[in-house]
Amino acid sequence: MELSFKFQEKTYPIVITRKKRKRIAVKIDPSGWIRVSCPEHCSHRTAVKFLEKNRAWLEKALIIHEGMERKLGISACLKYRRTYLFGKPHLLREKPDLKPPYEIREGVIYYRGNPADALEALRRDNHAYIEEEFERARHAFSEVIKQKPFLTIRKMKSRWGSCNHRTGRITINRALVHLSPRLLRFVMVHEFVHLIHPNHGRDFKELLGRLYPTHREAEKELKNYVFLLKID
Ligand SMILES: [Zn+2]
Repeated sequence: MELSFKFQEKTYPIVITRKKRKRIAVKIDPSGWIRVSCPEHCSHRTAVKFLEKNRAWLEKALIIHEGMERKLGISACLKYRRTYLFGKPHLLREKPDLKPPYEIREGVIYYRGNPADALEALRRDNHAYIEEEFERARHAFSEVIKQKPFLTIRKMKSRWGSCNHRTGRITINRALVHLSPRLLRFVMVHEFVHLIHPNHGRDFKELLGRLYPTHREAEKELKNYVFLLKID
């Protein structure tokens, strides 16, 4: 049985999965699918009833999703017609006779073959964007962050960065080449602060606030771009 939810003349597919869990959880994924995670014993009917009961919440979440879609073009990005580079939107256009894997001209990224391969090459070719910001941030905060950090850039599926405070190794997601220098700086500073405070406790937040005063806004903004991690 195919389930869907109709709202404002649009149809959103519903996908129900059963997991070892106590409560029903609902989330709207980047493509606008309503994903319902249920406890193993939960019936289809109970899941649908839950959605009906929480209709107001669901509608509100769909409005937020649609707003994000308009602003960021999430589904266009997911279908490879658009992406971001250094925080600026770019179109993706196929050009079968292209010699290199991709070429960037006036806001258009031309590619041949699989666009995912072109994007992967583009990310790999732009490590310098991340390396330079790493050096700048390291320099700017060297008075506070005494430990000398080391940088690794690689593909990561669910995080923008991580930090091993014991070894001083900071790992940055190469997909950050899509985002603006401001957000890249934010991820960098977040990981630098972990060198001193491994957890997200009060001391961590206090220092992060000192080094990056608009961190709350940046964090919210960054969440909007998580869908980019799903393009691979
Ligand atoms: Zn963290």
